[in-house]
Amino acid sequence: MGRDIRVHQVYAGRVLQGSGALFRVPDEVARLGAQRVLVIAAPSSAEAARDLAAALAERYAATFGRPVQHSPVEVTGEALALAGDVRADALVAIGGGSAIGLSKALAGRTGMPQVAVPTTYAGSEATPVLGETENGVKTTRRDPALAPSTIVYDPDLTLSLPRGLTLTSALNALAHAVEALWDPRASAATRAYAVESADGILAALPVVLDRPSDVVARGRLQEAAWLAGACLAQARMGLHHQLAHALGGTFGLPHAELHALLLAHVMRFNLVAAPDAAARLARLANGDPTLAVASLAAMHDGPTTLGALGVPRTALREVAERVAADPYPNPRPVTADAVEELLLAAW
Ligand code: NAD
Repeated sequence: MGRDIRVHQVYAGRVLQGSGALFRVPDEVARLGAQRVLVIAAPSSAEAARDLAAALAERYAATFGRPVQHSPVEVTGEALALAGDVRADALVAIGGGSAIGLSKALAGRTGMPQVAVPTTYAGSEATPVLGETENGVKTTRRDPALAPSTIVYDPDLTLSLPRGLTLTSALNALAHAVEALWDPRASAATRAYAVESADGILAALPVVLDRPSDVVARGRLQEAAWLAGACLAQARMGLHHQLAHALGGTFGLPHAELHALLLAHVMRFNLVAAPDAAARLARLANGDPTLAVASLAAMHDGPTTLGALGVPRTALREVAERVAADPYPNPRPVTADAVEELLLAAW
């Protein structure tokens, strides 16, 4: 009894979207009752952080400007000390998954409310998940208290995203939507998010690559990435995310590039066992979705193979065995031989 009950939980209760939305952050912070805001900003968002500090006026306390990928606990310690020194009572993170991860790490330790202002398409702002590293070991935890309560999507902040990161980060988002589509336990709402998200990414990404300053297309891509982040929060991620975690964790690889190069390979492997996802994606791609993703991934000027990213070929068998020994839920059964073949193709 009750084994088939599905729960759909939404995290950020408030989402603002639109050009110039950054300047609504002071109102959002006031709604949370905060008086002293600690801004966490990636170096690439330094200018936006200065604009925000000015707009926050007396509610501005300080900026921490050095978030690091995978939230090392030493960096969290430094930011925590600053938060204490300035008696911060709320957090605003501007940047990609690294800035938002640091905000979650601080919120998890202090209970401070968070406003997330994403500048990539990674989707962390929409999830209650935090990955942290200590002595090189990454641990991941999930707790609704880690999720930002408000997200502010301002496409103006994505205009500076370089072409490479635009492409790889958008494919990182697409991977969340694709995995949600082949999760048989995903809720109807999650499936709807996944379809709208994949549609938005497949339609808007080529436009943005062609015209990086097209703020309308950037807005559509960002909106699709929001829905993809919600898929990441809601659905069970399968082989794609397991491979990204196993390879990224072992070899310290750049998050978005790794996701981007793996996705078509995992789609080729999985879609034969996920006919409903395959049919929906084929409609959205107007053809073979695996080929559509592979040709987008091939447009990257940086590394597009595991070998070029620095993964030794000799390590692939061991990764395949580790993945097959304890597979994430996946539409197609995962064996070490099949995963090795997939990794060799991606190498
Ligand atoms: P990132 O935050 O590390 O940013 C990558 C680089 O891009 C940085 O140098 C940053 O300064 C720069 N950058 C960001 N926005 C920019 C912009 N608009 N213009 C110019 N440069 C910009 O990368 P990411 O891919 O967003 O996030 C990766 C991290 O987030 C990883 O640690 C990953 O594990 C984590 N993550 C967590 C979740 C989750 O749900 N917990 C989800 C996705 C990603």
